[in-house]
Amino acid sequence: MVLKIGVIGTGAIGQDHIRRITNNLSGGKIVAVTDVNAEQANAVVKNENLDAKVYENGLDVINATEVDAVIVTSWGPTHEEFVLASIAAGKPVFCEKPLAITAEGCKRIVDAEVASGKQLVQVGFMRRYDKGYRALKNVVDNGKIGEPLMVHCAHRNPSVPSSYTADMALTDSFVHEIDVLRWLLNDDYVSAQVILPRNTRLAEKGLQDPHMVLLETKQGIRIDTEIFVNCQYGYDIQCQVVGETGIANLPEPSSVLIRSEAKLLTDILVDWKDRFIDSYDVELQEWINSTIKGEMHGPSAWDGYVVAVTVDACVKAKHTGQIVPISIPERPAFYSKQYVLQ
Ligand code: NAP
Repeated sequence: MVLKIGVIGTGAIGQDHIRRITNNLSGGKIVAVTDVNAEQANAVVKNENLDAKVYENGLDVINATEVDAVIVTSWGPTHEEFVLASIAAGKPVFCEKPLAITAEGCKRIVDAEVASGKQLVQVGFMRRYDKGYRALKNVVDNGKIGEPLMVHCAHRNPSVPSSYTADMALTDSFVHEIDVLRWLLNDDYVSAQVILPRNTRLAEKGLQDPHMVLLETKQGIRIDTEIFVNCQYGYDIQCQVVGETGIANLPEPSSVLIRSEAKLLTDILVDWKDRFIDSYDVELQEWINSTIKGEMHGPSAWDGYVVAVTVDACVKAKHTGQIVPISIPERPAFYSKQYVLQ
């Protein structure tokens, strides 16, 4: 069977996903697209040589009879409407983060999905599909370093565009750590604190950079993360888990190590797309495979909701300077059968 997919939003990541499904992956075919910029949607169909219909809006894509499943890659504030409409139509939907721009919006999606009786929603947290994070999780899950006690992380970008504002370090960048760390540790968060170090002179005027976020989990694990989005030198994601009997580090992306002129040299990536390109491929291939089987294995609407609640706590912690408690309601039994990625 080929999964016939409709894509809502043909911007940067929408086009990337269309290309990977069309050229690199198997089992999926783009049959419908839309974008508020119809000219762009038409150009994508032409340039990528797609046998796909361009619809006027996202709801028409969702309800098109030829569409089996939906990918939402439009602007964040539109996600909730399109995910809810997909659930109402009984169609599986892969939604790029954020699931919705408020925790309340995410909760409405969770409630609608539970009421529908069928798990249909996957959220695009692609780090869970990264080879390195999967290897790290394997080490932690198999007890090779004992029980985890602390985690030290860094999320560094060389620079960010002027459209990157105020709290995006938390709402746009740190969201990936929020998701992948609770998956890595099989745990949830109970509090957040945000510390604002000395500001770099190299950030856009008025932008706080870096941030340091401290999270505490239910099991008492302490996580510190530096988010530094104007670090200049490269795109660098670090994660070190300190356990009772050892330490495990996220592997570095592979790069040739050169010994020359009394120096040891290796490249550091500069673009986040290059760092996670394989993860996006694995993520969407697994989504296609499981959707064809009628299953849903990836980050769920519940995960999207928990991330949104945690982000809200981090933003509040930043603006109040307080340690903010994080209160996550009990996970509905509906989500407990969720497959755990290895
Ligand atoms: P983008 O380049 O701005 O693309 C978004 C596209 O959606 C634009 O073409 C936009 O048109 C269109 N759009 C907006 N509202 C729409 C609507 N109602 N119906 C149909 N199309 C609509 O942004 P992007 O970088 O691709 O990001 C898209 C989403 O993916 C964001 O939520 C972002 O956070 C997420 N994302 C996730 C990752 C990840 O690592 N998982 C990476 C990148 C992006 P206009 O430009 O004309 O408004």
